[in-house]
Amino acid sequence: MSQADILAAIAAERQAQDNKWGEQNHHTLEWLSILMEEVGEVAQAINEYHWRNAPMANIRKELIQVAAVAVSALESIERNYPMEPNQ
Ligand SMILES: [Mg+2]
Repeated sequence: MSQADILAAIAAERQAQDNKWGEQNHHTLEWLSILMEEVGEVAQAINEYHWRNAPMANIRKELIQVAAVAVSALESIERNYPMEPNQ
């Protein structure tokens, strides 16, 4: 996958998240929990790839989800935690 393909996949995953759950506005600690859960799924996919011959596609899918959740967290922060003028 090219960088453009990867970014397109992340955008598609973001849209799928919105379609499934609607706009998400969480406290930053909730975002941390959601993001770490997704990172854990990357670890699980990597372990299964190395130890159980699971497909690399699972790792790609989980990494795209991590990136999409990070984008969603940033969007939520932009909506709910406006930056001070000097930031
Ligand atoms: Mg995941």
